[in-house]
Amino acid sequence: MSKPDAGGASAPASNFIRHIVENDLTRGTYATRRWSGHPGPASVQARAQPDAQRIRTRFPPEPNGYLHIGHAKSICLNFGLARDFGGVCHMRFDDTNPTREEQEYVDSILDAVRWLGFDWGANLYYASDYFETLYRFAEAFVEHGLAYVDSLTAQQTRELRGTLTEPGRDSPYRTRSVAENLDLFRRMRAGEFADGAHVLRLKIDMASPNINLRDPVIYRIRHVHHHRTGDAWCVYPMYDYTHCISDALENITHSICTLEFEDHRPLYDWVLERLADFGLLVRPLPHQYEFARLNLGYVVLSKRKLIQLVEDKHVDGWDDPRLPTLAGYRRRGYTPEAFRLFTDRIGVSKENSSIDLSVLEEALRDDLNERAPRRMAVLDPLRLIIDNYPAGAEEQCQAPNHPQRPEWGKRDLPFSRELWIERDDFMVTPPKGFFRLTPGAQVRLRFGFVIRCTGHDQDADGNVTAVHCEYHPDSKSGTPGADTYKVKGNIHWVSVGHAHPAEVRLFERLFNVASPGTGDHDFLLDLDPHSRRTITGRLEPSLAAAQPEDRFQFERHGYFCADSVDSTPGAPVFNRAVTLKDSRGR
Ligand code: ATP
Ligand code: MG
Repeated sequence: MSKPDAGGASAPASNFIRHIVENDLTRGTYATRRWSGHPGPASVQARAQPDAQRIRTRFPPEPNGYLHIGHAKSICLNFGLARDFGGVCHMRFDDTNPTREEQEYVDSILDAVRWLGFDWGANLYYASDYFETLYRFAEAFVEHGLAYVDSLTAQQTRELRGTLTEPGRDSPYRTRSVAENLDLFRRMRAGEFADGAHVLRLKIDMASPNINLRDPVIYRIRHVHHHRTGDAWCVYPMYDYTHCISDALENITHSICTLEFEDHRPLYDWVLERLADFGLLVRPLPHQYEFARLNLGYVVLSKRKLIQLVEDKHVDGWDDPRLPTLAGYRRRGYTPEAFRLFTDRIGVSKENSSIDLSVLEEALRDDLNERAPRRMAVLDPLRLIIDNYPAGAEEQCQAPNHPQRPEWGKRDLPFSRELWIERDDFMVTPPKGFFRLTPGAQVRLRFGFVIRCTGHDQDADGNVTAVHCEYHPDSKSGTPGADTYKVKGNIHWVSVGHAHPAEVRLFERLFNVASPGTGDHDFLLDLDPHSRRTITGRLEPSLAAAQPEDRFQFERHGYFCADSVDSTPGAPVFNRAVTLKDSRGR
């Protein structure tokens, strides 16, 4: 069965970042770029040669959690720019924070980016590969009198930092000599001092209105094991210092990050400009651009909170289908095409805003509507008995696999005297406008016969236990004359004797308020205890063979995906990815 690419096929709308890239390519901003000859690792030099015609972007996650839908926006933006402008996007792990990082996260991140449909080729990098270069550059700052070893306590440092409205004050260690600084910094690296005894700070301006420029710390002592460098280091560089240099070493042209880094841009530029002045980097230097991060209502994207949900077992793991992680969305049944379509639709801007979850769901519906084969499944079964159909007899009805794709063919649906129908497709006393089964009414059994309801059974409490009907033998769908029956209702069904009972999981939002944890109460209090409901569905027989990750539209119910962990051919387990219509507005 062919699976045409529904999502992401149209060109993404233009945005301010695309304009910048177009301008840079027209003006040849990077045309004069030559390999800087900086002392970065040779393997990077070999792979990231500057090229006048190419932009280079990067996606730089910290491997301290699984990727979520916010990261998908950044991935689609960075890899999408490279794809659309003939450039390259680097996959770079920003792994400078040793205690929180793990190989499991690295693997899951690579997996998620690949799943979204992007390829970094040979351009996989780790900031930890630059530790030696970063250290040497730091010594250069010391030698030029632009960095010093500070020995204040954390408390004293805070006191001198100042506030948004008050300037900071100089540390008494700010005037240490170059020789003393160099000696101390080397001994920091050699492991002579305990954690926290000293830090290395840039010497910029303690009175700057921008707090990021008040002598930022660029190295601290941490005697901890690193997932890649082991115990080779006990001084680790800080994010702001590492990030800009990593960009420069990889010849990144457009370094795109979220808005909260806008105030860090002067520091980004300051570090790179000084290194270029020292002759350690070559201009033009990479430039940082900021865009608004993705926020979604009813969804928590903070890594700290996601880790808490997983570690304290409020969900079943990082790939729980209720989580906004890419692993969770994937398991639930989301497609990469839906994510690409979603990110194209929400666009890129500089205004922070919150996107409604329905935009994502609509992207998934639009994608799966094109690509998901149709099937029948009864989720809340009620027995329908066709009294004039011979007991023990059966026949096949034919149903198209997709209403707009005749080339996908048809499948057989076994029909017999007893069928499952949906409980809410029958009402004893219906409201006005109810066109499904009621005593005396006629409906079509989808792809089958027209029936007329003749009665129902109920138990002592008045619950309906079975519905009785008669069928019109000459009304079978697809046979001559079937169209002479005009009915308003059309309901789905599955033969009782042929139905495959299977676990079906229905999901609601994980939280029951739009902004979990607002005020000072714990966000965990906003968890919806009913966010997952497990039922036994009655599936048409062909669904029994579903492979993990196969996706279908269950007619009139929504899109469902065979679970990647618990489902096996013969014993399928289905997750509902999304309903057919946005029902929350009702
Ligand atoms: P942390 O607090 O650990 O830094 P983070 O969500 O920023 O969390 P990173 O691993 O640093 O995680 O993110 C990698 C990249 O993804 C960054 O470039 C970041 O700007 C981008 N990113 C993260 N969250 C979002 C979001 N909600 N919307 C858009 N981009 C995001
Ligand atoms: Mg970050």
